[in-house]
Amino acid sequence: MGALAGAAALRPGVAAGSPEPRRTLRTGVFVAGAGPAGFVAAIAAARGGSRVTLAETFGFPGGMATAGLVGPISKFNFAGRRVVGGIAWEFVERMASLGGAITDLPKGNVPFEAETYRRVAREMLEEAGVECLWQTQVCGEPELSGDGAIRAVTLSTGGFLTRLEADRFIDCTASGAIVGHHGFGAFRSARGAAQPLSLCFILGGVDTEKARVLVRNDNERSRNPALGKALEKAMASGRIRSFGGPWAVWGSTIRPGFVSVNATRAEASDVTDPLEIASATARMRREIPTVIDVMREADDAFRNAYLVQSAAAAGFRECREIAALHRVAAHEFVAGVHPDDTIAIAAHPMDRHIAGTSAQSLTFLEHPGAIPLSALVSAKCPNLFAAGALVAAAPEPFASIRVQAQCMATGEAAGTAAAFKPGEDARRLDFAAIARRLARQGAIVKV
Ligand SMILES: Cc1cc2nc3c(=O)[nH]c(=O)nc-3n(C[C@H](O)[C@H](O)[C@H](O)COP(=O)(O)OP(=O)(O)OC[C@H]3O[C@@H](n4cnc5c(N)ncnc54)[C@H](O)[C@@H]3O)c2cc1C
Repeated sequence: MGALAGAAALRPGVAAGSPEPRRTLRTGVFVAGAGPAGFVAAIAAARGGSRVTLAETFGFPGGMATAGLVGPISKFNFAGRRVVGGIAWEFVERMASLGGAITDLPKGNVPFEAETYRRVAREMLEEAGVECLWQTQVCGEPELSGDGAIRAVTLSTGGFLTRLEADRFIDCTASGAIVGHHGFGAFRSARGAAQPLSLCFILGGVDTEKARVLVRNDNERSRNPALGKALEKAMASGRIRSFGGPWAVWGSTIRPGFVSVNATRAEASDVTDPLEIASATARMRREIPTVIDVMREADDAFRNAYLVQSAAAAGFRECREIAALHRVAAHEFVAGVHPDDTIAIAAHPMDRHIAGTSAQSLTFLEHPGAIPLSALVSAKCPNLFAAGALVAAAPEPFASIRVQAQCMATGEAAGTAAAFKPGEDARRLDFAAIARRLARQGAIVKV
């Protein structure tokens, strides 16, 4: 023991017990988080010619899609016409070619196998040459230089620190591991008003022919009302504290006999507060067996259902957003205003889950919505972008653009922009030129 401690203390740059990072790495573009937004952002930046490093808490890509068992990937189509292309579409087609996704549903929802998702995303990252730091987390405050740019972030791998310098940073952590510091972002909702969390799980032994609410039928209103009534009763009698949906669909699985279920629900105002996330997660995990019992009792299709897998992490629908050059406003989004720097098209209904209730507010779009690049670029920091669940938007547009296909599309835009004219202040880049570049890459930026 003594000899080992002595050896560690003698290694250059490693002081035993030191809170200092053990070493410094350097890259061109750093992407935090490998969810739908982050893995696509990293591929886009690498294809754009940058050296790219990606750090991800889990040991695989996909974020909510794989660790959270959230599915299907919504939403590629508006009124039967595809409105998301680029890397996102390439990705789902590649999953489909392996039998791991269904890409021809008319409403443009794409159910998939979570394991195929992990594999294809990893392969595409490797092919693009992205340096992937798995099981590595961004932590603490980013280090700033004199002009207010981010110089470096601190990474933790198993509790040991590494300093990482980059020219440009993209926060795709959904929680705002970078934008949550130095006033670069803010919580989306006032305390108590944030959308609730859900912890998804996969059931086997389901009669998927009998179950009426599979996304295979591509029904937008895929909630199961009979199961909903049974869960309401369970809530009234104190068997469970809350529920949402329930949605029992082909989402993160597409195998006959299996469905992914989104039914548990808990509130937390700040999912980056360890006590709040612990309490919400513990309650939802406790309630999963009861929810399954209720489903078995209420619907013949679920009579023999059994738990195959619960998500590695609770899914939270919102946390922070970047303080961007522009915040997508409800009126412009709903009216279908498409500025010159539009980099992604929204198609999903404005789908807001109401805190403290089992309710969901679903408003269908009359026009495809626009997501401009200016909603991804920090107003306060010259080398910071965000994508996915951190895009700057009012609650109504966010309730549409938070779904995965749109998160991937904003990831491609952030990655492409971060690789564009390195060294320049990101706020002064030619946004319309970046939108045109995205279109040349196959992204859909106009409808
Ligand atoms: C319960 C629920 C149901 C949903 N249903 C659907 C649906 O049916 N269809 C749909 O399309 N969308 C759905 N969504 C929305 C969608 O899943 C998310 O909005 C989307 O995954 C956001 O993508 P993202 O890449 O921004 O973030 P995430 O998917 O949350 O990924 C963020 C990644 O960052 C990593 N990370 C976090 N902090 C750090 C850190 N400090 N350092 C390094 N890595 C970090 C995480 O591990 C994760 O991998 C649902 C969401 C929830 C919560």
